[in-house]
Amino acid sequence: MTQETPEGRAVERLVAGRPTSDGAGVKLTRVLTHDLQHRLDPFLMLDFFGSHEVEDYVGGFPDHPHRGFETITYMLHGRMRHRDSAGHEGLLQDGGVQWMTAGRGVIHSEMPEQSEGLMNGFQLWLNLPAKDKMTTPWYRDMQSAEIPEFVRNDGLKVRVIAGRHESVAALVQREGTEPLYLDIHNPSAQRLTMVQPVPAAHNAFAYVYAGELEVRAQGKTQTVANNRMAIFANQHDHVVLELPPQSRAILVAGKPLGEPIVQYGPFVMNTKDEVMQAVHDYQRGVLA
Ligand code: FE
Repeated sequence: MTQETPEGRAVERLVAGRPTSDGAGVKLTRVLTHDLQHRLDPFLMLDFFGSHEVEDYVGGFPDHPHRGFETITYMLHGRMRHRDSAGHEGLLQDGGVQWMTAGRGVIHSEMPEQSEGLMNGFQLWLNLPAKDKMTTPWYRDMQSAEIPEFVRNDGLKVRVIAGRHESVAALVQREGTEPLYLDIHNPSAQRLTMVQPVPAAHNAFAYVYAGELEVRAQGKTQTVANNRMAIFANQHDHVVLELPPQSRAILVAGKPLGEPIVQYGPFVMNTKDEVMQAVHDYQRGVLA
């Protein structure tokens, strides 16, 4: 790089995630677990699912409710159909993203439409500010071709799912949490460096899903191995990444809400009473 590289945020902690299953027995790795919700505010959960074995995903996620936050599902490979109580339906497939704002409540299903082959991707939960938790549900499907991309001359490819990278803005922006969600590929045969502005006060993490990543900070590099999440320290206003050939990672950041987080399963509110109300509304059939 010809211009001087800014000081980058260091890796504070590496996280391996926890193998678990959810829905009707879908095997996945919970990378952002409950105990990291405050550290990574406004993000509540990150799951990475990936399997070639049909029995690991065929059960899908039958009808279940949500209230109080947003889910962002990024399908790397595979086909899954979404249906919800707000009347939205969409097919999520290779490279596509589904952004759902549960707001005051939706009941939805996410079911595989394939009986063999690889299915892999991410589901990220993004919290809503207290004032928006009971907002009207919202949904947007983005097929792969619609996702804005920034492709550098040297081959570096950045898919912009939320926020902005260089001159490219995502299709979805959020005022309260200012989420950034980038999918970064180095398809070239050389090592490439990428610089992304991320305000120090915004919580940020990266997850490597092919190859590995080097994080440059304070004149050193820290390696993030495949299938690891790196949590970035809240210092300096950039993330500086070095990508070996064929590496892939997501980079996620957002502005913390600093509000109480009370989760009970698929409901995330600010107080116990609000969560109890969600359970009650669901049981009475008036959640959605
Ligand atoms: Fe769901």
